[in-house]
Amino acid sequence: MRKKIVAGNWKMNTTLQEGVALAEGLKAALEGKQVNCDVVVCTPFISVASVVKAVEGSVIGVGAEDCSAHTSGAYTGEVAANMVASTGAKYVILGHSERRQYHGENNEILVEKLNQALANGLTPIFCVGEVKEERENGTFKAVIEGQMEAMYTLSAEDFAKCVVAYEPVWAIGTGLTATSEQAQEVHAFIRASIAAKYNAEVADNTSILYGGSCKGSNAPELFAQPDIDGGLIGGAALKVDTFMPIIEAWK
Ligand code: PEP
Repeated sequence: MRKKIVAGNWKMNTTLQEGVALAEGLKAALEGKQVNCDVVVCTPFISVASVVKAVEGSVIGVGAEDCSAHTSGAYTGEVAANMVASTGAKYVILGHSERRQYHGENNEILVEKLNQALANGLTPIFCVGEVKEERENGTFKAVIEGQMEAMYTLSAEDFAKCVVAYEPVWAIGTGLTATSEQAQEVHAFIRASIAAKYNAEVADNTSILYGGSCKGSNAPELFAQPDIDGGLIGGAALKVDTFMPIIEAWK
């Protein structure tokens, strides 16, 4: 059975103190509650180690928002996957559209990052998704399939350790959400593509998250879709009061 997951992506928000306070607030809000999904927060690098400590003893898993394609060495400003793992973090977002758009991340780079993450025991949350023009001109499925090619370099065994996030770029931070039908169509497409590349068992066991202006009001309908296994949440993950209803959408 694949996992249900609600993961936050804090992006370039929160100082160290704000991040720890947010994590502590989330831990307190979850205490004593029945939680029906895995809860993850992916934080800026500077906060990862402190947030891991802050959420100790809770159900919350912690991740980074990126890692280097390199193992170690003269890469000023980069953070290697083994450094992320050394904090106790278990996840890493890879291929977020903002990394693709502003940092030129392509399949070649992302294959390296996937391998670094997996070699260090991190679970990659691998993002795919089309821009508005690709949605409108009908090429979105081909675009997504092309982005999935980076993951398809992995063995079935390694692929099974990954989570996929479908994030239509036109819905990220815009307040525009894909309708549950639009999201379900792409999630089913991705799952079929995984089945064709590997097999039905791998496809059935892969968690595919939706991301793009997901909030408490639309999460229940999105999560009710058969191929949507949770969400990758940006803006609404920055406050306990807006993140909790999304977690609670898994009844
Ligand atoms: C994201 O950046 O991964 C995201 C889904 O952002 P938002 O929820 O703010 O649209």
